[in-house]
Amino acid sequence: MSTGSLEANESNGSDGETEEPETALETARRQLEHAAANLDVEDGVIERLKHPTTVHRVAVPLRRDSGEVEVFTGYRAQHDDVRGPYKGGLRFHPHVSEQECVGLSMWMTWKCAVMDLPFGGGKGGIIVDPKDLSEGEKERLTRRFAEELRKFIGPKKDIPAPDMGTDSQTMAWFMDAYSMQEGETIPGVVTGKPTAVGGSEGREESPGRSVAIIARQAAEYYDYDLEETTVAVQGFGSVGANAARLLDDWGANVVSVSDVNGAIYDPDGLDTHAVPSHEEEPEAVMSHDAPEKLSNEKILELDVDILIPAAIGNVITAENANDVEADIVVEGANGPTTFAADSILEEKGVEVIPDILANAGGVTVSYFEWLQDINRRKWSLDRVNEELEEKMLSAWDDVREEVEADDLSWRDAAYTVALSRIAEAKSVRGLWP
Ligand code: GLU
Repeated sequence: MSTGSLEANESNGSDGETEEPETALETARRQLEHAAANLDVEDGVIERLKHPTTVHRVAVPLRRDSGEVEVFTGYRAQHDDVRGPYKGGLRFHPHVSEQECVGLSMWMTWKCAVMDLPFGGGKGGIIVDPKDLSEGEKERLTRRFAEELRKFIGPKKDIPAPDMGTDSQTMAWFMDAYSMQEGETIPGVVTGKPTAVGGSEGREESPGRSVAIIARQAAEYYDYDLEETTVAVQGFGSVGANAARLLDDWGANVVSVSDVNGAIYDPDGLDTHAVPSHEEEPEAVMSHDAPEKLSNEKILELDVDILIPAAIGNVITAENANDVEADIVVEGANGPTTFAADSILEEKGVEVIPDILANAGGVTVSYFEWLQDINRRKWSLDRVNEELEEKMLSAWDDVREEVEADDLSWRDAAYTVALSRIAEAKSVRGLWP
C-alpha cells in the first residue's frame, strides 16, 4: 500500500500555458477549489476531500503465453466513503497512473453524491495496453489483480466496475476469483457483470443513455427543438454509440461521430445504427460511407448545437477551447475538459454539462445491480430504464436549481449539490476520534 506523492504539477495553471497536459488530479483539485469558493461548508471538509483516504498499489505478476513472467503495476484509489462504500471502475490502459486514479476517484465521489447514491468514490486500474494481451493473459491478469485487491474490496467496502479497457467479461473473472477465495459466490463485489451472473439488464447501455437523457434535457432547457438539434459525438465506444443512437432515435440530427482514426460528417444526419460501434467492430467508423471525413480533433470544432466528447479525458484544453463552436458541451467521457479550457468556454458562453451528472447513468445502474445482487432479485429492463430516467431527471433538477439560484456554471452547480451532501454527512458523523 502506498499513498505516494500526489502533489499535482503546478506548472500549467489556468493561464493557457499548457506545455504539459493537465492531469486528472490537477483538474479535479482545481474544480473542487473553484466550486468550494461558492459554498458555505467548513474549510476542514474541503481540505479532507482534496486527499484520498488510501491508494493501494499492487504488483500483478502475469505468466505470458510465451511462458515468461511479466510484472504489471495496479492501483486502487479510495477517495471518500462517508456516504457509503467506495464505488468506481477499473481501467486497463497504458496511461493509468496513481495520480489519474486519484483524480478519477474524486470524480466518482461527486458523481455518486450528485445522484444521491449511498456510495463514495474509488477508481483503479493496471498500467497495461489490453490490445497487447491475449484473452487468456487478460483473464490471468484480472484474476491475479482481484486477488491482490481482495483484502481492500467487498460489497460493503469497495465495489469495482468496468471502465476503459475492461468490460463485463473482466468483471465476471474478477467476481469469480474473489468468490473462489472467499468460499462463496458474492456477485455484489463488482457491478457491470454479464446478466448470467447477477449483472443488471441495461447496465451496458446506461452511461450512454444518461448522456442522451441529459443532452435532451439541456436542449429543452435552452429552447432547442430536439428534431432540429445538431449533435456531434467524439468516440463511438459504449458511451458515444449508445448516446448517439438514442438521440438519433429521439429525433435529433446526429451529424458527426468519430473514433481514433477520424470522424464522418453528414450535414443531413447519419444513420447512427448503421455505423459500427467499437464493440461491434473496432475502429470501423471511417469505413462507413459519408459525404465528408474529418480528423478526430476537428470534430471538436464543428459548429453544432451539442458536442458530446465521449472518448477519453483531456481532449478540450487551453489549446483548442477557443475553436469549440458548439453551444452546449455534454461530457460523456470522464474529464474531457481541462480546468483551463473550462474558463475559456465559460467566457465564450459555451454551456458545459459536466461528466459527474451526464455520464452518471453508469454508476446509477451499477447501484441498481448491487441492490439486485444483495436482494437476489432481478429487475426487468423496463424497470431499470424507468428508474434510471427518474434518477437522472431528479439529479438534473437538483443541479438546475443551483444553476438558477446562484447563476453558477453547470459544473459548479453539480459540485454544489454533491459537496453539500458530502459535507452534511461529514458534519453529522463528525471527525473520529
Ligand atoms: N466507470 C464508470 C464511471 O466512470 C462506472 C463506475 C461504476 O459503475 O461503479 O462512472
